[in-house]
Amino acid sequence: MSTSPASQVFHRDLLHPAPAVDRASGVHVWDVDGNRYLDASSGGNIVISIGYGVQDVLDAMAEQAAKVSFCGQFTSEPQEQLARELADFAPEGMDYVRFTSGGSEANETAIKLARHYFVESGKPSKHKIVGRWRSYHGNTLGALSATGHVMRRVSYAPMLLPFAHAAPPYRYRCTLCAQSDACTLSCADDVERVILNEGPEHVAAFIAEPVVGAAAMGMVPPEGYFERVREICDEYDVLLIVDEVLSGMGRTGRNFAIEHFGVVPDLITCGKGISSGYSPLGAVIARNEIYDAVAAGSGMFEHGFTYGGNPLSCAVGLAVLRHIEKHDLVARAGDVGGYLIDEIRAAIGDHPLIGEVSGLGMLAGIEVVSDRTTKEPFPYELGVSKRIARKCQERGVLINPSFSGNADGYRGDRFGVCPPYIFERADVDHTVAVLAEAVADVAAELA
Ligand code: PLP
Repeated sequence: MSTSPASQVFHRDLLHPAPAVDRASGVHVWDVDGNRYLDASSGGNIVISIGYGVQDVLDAMAEQAAKVSFCGQFTSEPQEQLARELADFAPEGMDYVRFTSGGSEANETAIKLARHYFVESGKPSKHKIVGRWRSYHGNTLGALSATGHVMRRVSYAPMLLPFAHAAPPYRYRCTLCAQSDACTLSCADDVERVILNEGPEHVAAFIAEPVVGAAAMGMVPPEGYFERVREICDEYDVLLIVDEVLSGMGRTGRNFAIEHFGVVPDLITCGKGISSGYSPLGAVIARNEIYDAVAAGSGMFEHGFTYGGNPLSCAVGLAVLRHIEKHDLVARAGDVGGYLIDEIRAAIGDHPLIGEVSGLGMLAGIEVVSDRTTKEPFPYELGVSKRIARKCQERGVLINPSFSGNADGYRGDRFGVCPPYIFERADVDHTVAVLAEAVADVAAELA
């Protein structure tokens, strides 16, 4: 028996226990000791899109829970209606939706659906998935195999599927061409290199986050990147899966972040903001040709999870989506998010500790460096971005330490500031003022 542990939950970080949350409302969270925090982190995992305690969502939950929460033999009106409204929210020609309970399950589903599409299309040799380094697609073994976040993979490496990875579009630390004046999109061409290396006849899909989250918070690809990737995928008959678990549902100021880049993917995966954390929910949105191939073939996509599409979570998703649309929150995320990124740049962009401020909308990423000229990162053990986040928390503001670290052989220690879409400009001002103080504090500690 263990010796009287303070907590018997097997937490992720056993050395740094988080405080316990008591309640939340709007953009604020209270811990059990009564401390109030301004939540510029969207619940830490970048989930809260519409804010806490929205009455329309609470009403929809109560109403649906009273009717039926689960009945796996049947579909339900909330599931059918959410699929219709999500299809309207998604790019043209993407009208079919499979629901899951979260983002990892959505990516597992997309990976298997890509494979199944080729089985149904008479090309059964196509089964490989290509990912990118500095990406995160989830912690289940399939999604982790596609993931290029080395620290999250390292313990499980012998168990992972042999998915290949292309270079990330990481302009700040590009080792290919972006450091010269003329970026020639070598990182996009690297997708082609990997597909050719794997053999196009074996490759089913390429998966990427349009704007990167946990593995390189706020990494935005160079102009033309996704157009080139789309061309490559088309040339080699490879499906393009965009992982919008974090960047989707309006966070970047477009319904889906891929829309900034003028490209229509084949599959979109969703999670997090789709339910704003009120209930576990994820989704895969598929291009019509994929649905048609299955419908005209076996008629079966033999895959699923018990809770996928449950009426309660779908009722929540529907209420959240309607709330986003009713209050024009996507435009607001773009507008106030643009202000957020500008203000962060103005406040700390030139600080000796800060290498880069990047991102889109309510998805801001900041990289800390020990030397701005050489871009030398701090030793991982110093945990500089986590320290900045802790200093903000001590001052009552929550931001996102992204845990990307640099002990993985991939340089760059980044953190995020990713508030709910309902943040006011005054909330941004307060967050940025606290962030500037936290950065100054940590710089003084390191001096
Ligand atoms: N994909 C992305 C881009 C994510 O950021 C995450 C979670 O952080 C996931 C997938 C995994 O989602 P979940 O934790 O809901 O399984």
